[in-house]
Amino acid sequence: MSTLAVDIGATKFAASIVTQTGDVLHRREAPSSQLWDGLFNLLQETAKDSESKIEKIGIGSAGPINTETGCISPVNISAWRNFPLVPRIKEFFPNTEIAMVGDAVALAVAEHAIGAGKGSVNMLGMVVSTGIGGGIIVRDKPLLGDYGNAGFFGHNVVGDYDGKCNCGRKGCVEGYSSGPSMVRFANSLGWEGDDFRDLAKDATSGDAYAIKAIDFGTDHLAKAIVNISQLFDLYRVVVGGGVIEAGEIYWKPLENALASHSTSLNLVEPIKLIRAQLQRDAGLIGAAMVVGLE
Ligand SMILES: [Zn+2]
Repeated sequence: MSTLAVDIGATKFAASIVTQTGDVLHRREAPSSQLWDGLFNLLQETAKDSESKIEKIGIGSAGPINTETGCISPVNISAWRNFPLVPRIKEFFPNTEIAMVGDAVALAVAEHAIGAGKGSVNMLGMVVSTGIGGGIIVRDKPLLGDYGNAGFFGHNVVGDYDGKCNCGRKGCVEGYSSGPSMVRFANSLGWEGDDFRDLAKDATSGDAYAIKAIDFGTDHLAKAIVNISQLFDLYRVVVGGGVIEAGEIYWKPLENALASHSTSLNLVEPIKLIRAQLQRDAGLIGAAMVVGLE
């Protein structure tokens, strides 16, 4: 039997077979803009590749999600509001066991089990990408909440920025600190470009606007990290997602911002920021782990 893992992100969908040892096989991707048709093809093709029958399906999805109904309403996929993801998948894979968690919860589960968070009892796993999400591990188990959205902190308000976030509020950490938000802020200063990778490259070359935009984003993200650390009394934070691929030009300012915001917490223990190890597969591995690998 096989476990099929699905990762629903704001920019792309991914699916794969995950083995009992956590190896990711037959990984495929499709742009999220293809919505259900793209996702359905992806699942069918990946299932076809499997050497044995699919008996379990683990889903990690951008939030918010509703684990009671199996519906999802990802903030950054506006066409899906209360989209019945689990019921739809169940129609085509009727005799399977299906579990769904938030995409950052999936990352946290995988990193905690076999990645950068190995050995920690409590930790926060974060995704910084098109959106911002989080997953909290408490005493070696993912915290889920009533509907599966515990740790979904991208829409915590950390400032008075007056641009509206996709969720409808103002001042959300995602509105400051996601890749597109840092690009937007740099554009408002006069930087010309539309991609975070280019922004990071220009910051490395010394572009003052690009540097300022990364400082702005990391400063607000650090505020949110400190809030969560205080709330849950946890000091290990594993950060994943496309933005951290920029390397030191992003990581250093984030570490500095965290240090500047967490002085009182240092009385207990400094918050330790750790880069995710499982790269782009973390969400798939964690989704499979949540439903069980055997
Ligand atoms: Zn928001």
